[in-house]
Amino acid sequence: MDLSEAKLGDQYRVFIDNYTGNILPSPSMHTLVATVIATKKPGHGTDVLLGWMATDKFPANARERAQTSSDNDYVPNQALYKRGLTVKRTMLVASKIINGLDGFPCKRCTNFYPYALPNQSDGTLVCWSCRNTR
Ligand SMILES: [Zn+2]
Repeated sequence: MDLSEAKLGDQYRVFIDNYTGNILPSPSMHTLVATVIATKKPGHGTDVLLGWMATDKFPANARERAQTSSDNDYVPNQALYKRGLTVKRTMLVASKIINGLDGFPCKRCTNFYPYALPNQSDGTLVCWSCRNTR
């Protein structure tokens, strides 16, 4: 999935390069949670701003946020997000966190596993049961 449907306040698990700690636009087995804290107003492009609060794990290439832009619509509590990174909506992400439920569906049986993380090199999860049956 990518960020094409991303709306203000949505949370996604984004891929991280385990060596640099930077956001990766392609699948990896390392992820962290990002919140969509700004979207562009009509006519100002389509990029989205991901944000991290002071206590969140954040990617190495996230920047300290200085000021807001009049080109953007922001979440109401945007000031709490001390770091941010502008990304393309075409960037691949691992999963969307829906109703606060963080986890992954198994790629094969599609069962949802709360708190699970990717265990495949393509950034997906195959559950224990599916890995041990043919
Ligand atoms: Zn499975």
